[in-house]
Amino acid sequence: MTTLTQGVMGLGLSAFFPKTYFWAALFLAVLPDIDGLLRYAPPLRQYTAGLHSLPFAPLWLLLAGMLYIGDATLGGIAAVAFSLHLFLDFINKDSVPYTVRGQPVQVPFGQPRAVSYIQEILVGLLFLWIFLK
Ligand SMILES: [Zn+2]
Repeated sequence: MTTLTQGVMGLGLSAFFPKTYFWAALFLAVLPDIDGLLRYAPPLRQYTAGLHSLPFAPLWLLLAGMLYIGDATLGGIAAVAFSLHLFLDFINKDSVPYTVRGQPVQVPFGQPRAVSYIQEILVGLLFLWIFLK
């Protein structure tokens, strides 16, 4: 999903934690998309979405575990934010394990792009509703 939608997910996630963690939830929800910045560096463009690949998934959870040691609430936010981010990108076909964004995706349960847009809108509205409630 887009970084904007992931940010809205972070807003919704922040509603379940003390207000002092608002910016942390927002930042951690969009952090896995930082590899998207590589598209602005042509020699590294092929590595965009690398942070969304299956080999990186345990590294995100390891980072969450390290944060948990220092601050349990922050570690909890990180674990949920990273997991949700990867899941949301996966259901929207923005990332698939062992593939790189931009390459043809061959998944048996793939859906038309319009479904991805509808999912994106519904996820955005859901987390915005949770945040505003
Ligand atoms: Zn992403």
